[in-house]
Amino acid sequence: MPLDVYLETFGCQMNELDSELVSSQLRALGYRFTERIDDARVVLFNTCSVREHAEQKVWSRLGELAVRKVRQPELVVGVLGCMAEREGDGLMKRMPVVDILVGPAELDKLPALLDNAVRTRISLAIDAPAPPPPEVDSLPSFIKKSLVSAGQIALQGTSSRRSQTLAAAGDQLELLDLSRATSPDDHSGSAYVRITRGCNKFCTYCVVPFTRGAEIHRPPEHIVDECKRLADAGIIEVTLLGQTVNHYRFEHGAAVTVDGVTQPQKGRVYRTGEDFADAYAGERVTTFAGLLKRIHDEVPGIQRLRFVTSYPKSFGNDVLQVIRESPRICRYLHVPAQSGSDRMLKAMNRGYTVQEYLDFLARAREFLHQPEIGRPLTVAGDIIVGFPGETEEDHLATAELLRTARYKNCFIFKYSPRPGTTAYDKLADDVPEETKRRRNNELLKLQLEISTRVGEEFIGRTMQVFVQGVSKRDSKRRAAEAACGTGSPGVESWASRGVALSIEGRVAPSTPVSAAGVAELKTPSEDLPNEMGGLPTQLSGRTEGDLIVLFDAPAGRSPESLVGQIVPVWIESSKMLSLMGRLAISAGV
Ligand code: SAM
Ligand code: SF4
Repeated sequence: MPLDVYLETFGCQMNELDSELVSSQLRALGYRFTERIDDARVVLFNTCSVREHAEQKVWSRLGELAVRKVRQPELVVGVLGCMAEREGDGLMKRMPVVDILVGPAELDKLPALLDNAVRTRISLAIDAPAPPPPEVDSLPSFIKKSLVSAGQIALQGTSSRRSQTLAAAGDQLELLDLSRATSPDDHSGSAYVRITRGCNKFCTYCVVPFTRGAEIHRPPEHIVDECKRLADAGIIEVTLLGQTVNHYRFEHGAAVTVDGVTQPQKGRVYRTGEDFADAYAGERVTTFAGLLKRIHDEVPGIQRLRFVTSYPKSFGNDVLQVIRESPRICRYLHVPAQSGSDRMLKAMNRGYTVQEYLDFLARAREFLHQPEIGRPLTVAGDIIVGFPGETEEDHLATAELLRTARYKNCFIFKYSPRPGTTAYDKLADDVPEETKRRRNNELLKLQLEISTRVGEEFIGRTMQVFVQGVSKRDSKRRAAEAACGTGSPGVESWASRGVALSIEGRVAPSTPVSAAGVAELKTPSEDLPNEMGGLPTQLSGRTEGDLIVLFDAPAGRSPESLVGQIVPVWIESSKMLSLMGRLAISAGV
């Protein structure tokens, strides 16, 4: 009988992609997925360690499962991702409810471990001898494996794993990305594609280089092929993922092939932007600019090509030039500054000054900000407040940076000391929590004002919007009305489907686009009502610059028929982080 698995993802887009790959692998082996944790025989948490708060959520969820496991001993619990890597078998000792622990670099081993854990749990529940440990004993020695107690097993990469893996020229994790299966009937129209793993930057506050290892670049052929397969399945938007995407570089002369599979390559450490001026080294080297160009030119089915996250240093004009020349590459950059104070940037080991950061933004805008042809550049950022030693003067400098950078939105985080990082070991966390909170709130308030003003620049324009689903407001309204049966006749079934649409974003596969780049709207496949309680259904989507746009499904159209399409929306107003508009076709624009 198939086992029901509940998989919950904490943290970043990289984790969302890992979860998708893991579920696709488990589905192929016959596991079924459930959205209700209470129905699951296997519970997997894919965890994040970037801030302590994210880890605390997982600890408390594990505490709840410990209570459940007393009455349901056959329950299998797995912790995947960065917490598994950072905490190691100590996590299992503290939380014996956990059966499996798999770090981000060992996710391809999950099926073997899960199979063994399920068999062990059954034998423990019926008091029979546990099966022998899984084949993980035959794993190479560079993988740290610990059998903590009966049935419990932890897999972590060791810090030297990367170099040894490359020396052995066998990166099994690449096979996980390569094995991705996307069904044409079961996707949101949008997908992530990894281009690099890990990070070489060692910002002093950050755990990522420790939990995800050194920077590794995937072969460009694998990335382009993956994009082609996604496009064939009906995906129209691809977001390339990496911690420092602009550092992507693959040297073909140094490529190693094992069993017919080209292996990923170690990243190198760059000193200046000049290193990136060789994008057109042709067949010898594929740089980030070359990779973008290849995907854009070779996979025209991808109507939106995006990438995150960019590092403000070593971002060459070659990349900006390729974006400018390519109509399907989004003019959107997520390029964190972290602070507006040079003193803080130095303590964070970011490797640039505030002026260098602003010079980069000015250069990017010079190349890419063309509102006159309907192609403005939008920029998003990240800021950390309350880093050790941050004074009021540093804080004011960061506020000034926000005003100058004019982000369309900015993620503002309170500094969270992370064990194992340089900041944790060497710098006292000396900014009081109350001060961190106040600075955080001040910057959030300032950024909201800036975001509203940036949004106002779009009023009166028609923007191409990728429709993602029913807006949060209407999803809640539908769920509430469905729960108390107050929806209009025929609405209840749609109400529950509306929620599913916005949560899972399941859509029809393709969006035809006319030569003019305007979506030819699909005929509604079903006669679903477009209003509830007399009000039209509000849809939510994103512009190429990642601005959120809210608009009402027009009368006589099923909202479902618009989801997953790129449609023209005429912008009427800007409110905080969202633009409000009208479907241009119905508005007659
Ligand atoms: N690689 C990306 C870069 O450097 O731009 C960011 C990746 S990191 C997972 C996402 C964001 O988390 C960072 O940009 C930073 O603002 C924030 N972050 C990382 N470590 C943090 C910490 N210890 N405390 C608070 N925020 C942190
Ligand atoms: Fe962390 Fe810095 Fe690497 Fe980003 S660049 S993942 S903040 S170490």
